[in-house]
Amino acid sequence: MERKLVSVQRVDHLEPISGADNILKARVMGWDVVVKKGEFAPGDPCIFFELDSLLPESAPWAEFMRPRGFRVKTARLRGVLSQGLALPVSILPGALPPHGTDVRDLLGVVKYEPVAADSREVSGPFPGQVPRTDELRLQSALGVLDELRGHDFYVTTKLDGTSATFFRPLEGGLVACSRNWALTREASHPAWRMAERYALDTVLPAGFAVQGEVCGPGIQKNRLGLTEADLFIFSVHDTRTGHYLGHAELIAFCAEHGLRTVPVEHVVTGEAARTFDHSLEHYLKLAQGFYTGTRNRKEGIVVRPLAERHSPTLGGRLSFKIINNDFLLKDED
Ligand code: ATP
Ligand code: MN
Ligand code: MN
Repeated sequence: MERKLVSVQRVDHLEPISGADNILKARVMGWDVVVKKGEFAPGDPCIFFELDSLLPESAPWAEFMRPRGFRVKTARLRGVLSQGLALPVSILPGALPPHGTDVRDLLGVVKYEPVAADSREVSGPFPGQVPRTDELRLQSALGVLDELRGHDFYVTTKLDGTSATFFRPLEGGLVACSRNWALTREASHPAWRMAERYALDTVLPAGFAVQGEVCGPGIQKNRLGLTEADLFIFSVHDTRTGHYLGHAELIAFCAEHGLRTVPVEHVVTGEAARTFDHSLEHYLKLAQGFYTGTRNRKEGIVVRPLAERHSPTLGGRLSFKIINNDFLLKDED
């Protein structure tokens, strides 16, 4: 399920920024975002662009973003963190659609992708039986906190490599995929190398998909400091039932098949889960820090209940990410 990259939202709150005459700090969903003074009053609707929105180069309302390459990134303005972009609803053609409406196509916005897929390396579409590996940002879906409250849950480290999905259909051979495509064996993407290393075509039970992050030299910034590429599993999906394995089952599955998992930072159960502080502020703190054994800031964390749960807020599995704001400000490309 795709997140709403650009949507009709509300400016919940506005406050002055000391030493700045022309800008204000606004709150939209869980995001702090700097806006122009005079453009909004508290409660006004706005068009909110999430991080990594790539604005159209030809639209007059986007012209001010030309010096920044039209990409919405995390910024610090007069000491205030600004994440996303809020513009007046007057940039929309026609009548204002209802709150929450996705207007990315209407405005010609696409998601910034660091590397486009090379068509010669694609063997086919991403398998329809397997969900994609995207994670929603907590600040865009604060309702998930209430959905998680009281349940046992776990926190893993978000690794900054490249997504890989391996699927063994009930009939036919192994499929290895990047984030969006099934890949040829010759593809430069490391998925097939991992499939061979872990003998996934024989190890993976038919009907199952495993999903993980490939990290290593030459992949992103290799912030784990690995000497060779490796695969870190974060999801196992049973396409026959349409369900993901729970945390304990995933750990057992990976142990049985000789696979590594992403680092598990916390498993919170029982009384500790019932009394846990599920606030945005707390999660932002948990997202800070470094990859174990390195001086490299971690990208963030991913949070899930121990047993798979449906999220009405997300319209899919309850699972979300919190990106480390220090990483966004200092390390993001
Ligand atoms: P890109 O790096 O291509 O911009 P992204 O990492 O920003 O993508 P998101 O949708 O923001 O993509 O985050 C989800 C991705 O995070 C997943 O596709 C997966 O590849 C990756 N990931 C890394 N570590 C984990 C983890 N511990 N749990 C779940 N997903 C993880
Ligand atoms: Mn992203
Ligand atoms: Mn990534």
